[in-house]
Amino acid sequence: MTTRTPSAEGLIADVPALGTFARRATLLRPTAGAPGLLDSSVAGPLLWPADETWPVCRGPHLVEVRERLSEAEREALQRIDRNMRARRAGKPDAAWEISEKEADVQSRIMDGAGALDMVTWERIRRVPVTSVDGVPMLGVLQLHARDVPAAAWPEGTDVLQVLWCPKDHSGLPGQSDYWGPVVEMRHRSAATVSAVLDPPVPDDIGGRRAPLPCVLDPVEVTDLPDQDELPAELLAAAESWAERHGVEFHRGLACHEGWKVGGWPSWHLTDLVPVTCSCGATARLFLTMDSGGDPGVNVGRFGEVRVFTCPADASHPHRLNIQ
Ligand SMILES: [Zn+2]
Ligand SMILES: [Zn+2]
Repeated sequence: MTTRTPSAEGLIADVPALGTFARRATLLRPTAGAPGLLDSSVAGPLLWPADETWPVCRGPHLVEVRERLSEAEREALQRIDRNMRARRAGKPDAAWEISEKEADVQSRIMDGAGALDMVTWERIRRVPVTSVDGVPMLGVLQLHARDVPAAAWPEGTDVLQVLWCPKDHSGLPGQSDYWGPVVEMRHRSAATVSAVLDPPVPDDIGGRRAPLPCVLDPVEVTDLPDQDELPAELLAAAESWAERHGVEFHRGLACHEGWKVGGWPSWHLTDLVPVTCSCGATARLFLTMDSGGDPGVNVGRFGEVRVFTCPADASHPHRLNIQ
């Protein structure tokens, strides 16, 4: 007797209407290793032509700026703090209360800054600054077509290289709510690269934005969408099927986790955010780069960077989203 692990294919066989939502996804499954130039890898050496300029990012990058409070401002904040403590004295369960007038003083002193350092008494704000020289981008991912045949490969190409600028950004065109790394993708043909470039390394990579080298063990799966992208009756059918088979729809059948090409994005932090190309088309998930695991990066509070591309025209600029 054989037992079969419940799969998306099995689910679709029983609920055929889900078939129109099925997408191929290639799970990249990075594990720590020492990838070579000709390997698909995370943070491995890139097959980059010696005569092609390495990309740099000029931002604008969010840079922390500190402003020391005046003596009077510091005293005013300390007075508010003393008043709040006095009002709460003897009432340990009471909430901290601030008067309207005190709140006005506080917000005038903060002047829109995001944080206050109460050791040095400095306002801290993050401001967008353009980098004149540009920050060298980091090679994050290299894929060979033989390892990820299901990705859309432009005619004549068989290598995809993904780089990112490790800094935080703001004000990217068409990306009003995105503060993560800027992503650049290059397709090329391996056969056209003879001499290989020794890439520059950025001098300041903060916040675990440089992945550790990993080899990949790609596997193709069928992916299904998040609950937000399915009609209610189909979601109910999928969930009850999963329950009958002793699994959860959201774990293993839909929105596969980790580094992947294709498939569906999960919307576990926000509700569904439509990602739209500049041409108006709904952009489609192309690539997911995840925090943690062997690559060891941390993006967006241990989230994932997702790259969406235009289904109508692959040359349209991609869209980024962090979840
Ligand atoms: Zn940048
Ligand atoms: Zn488009």
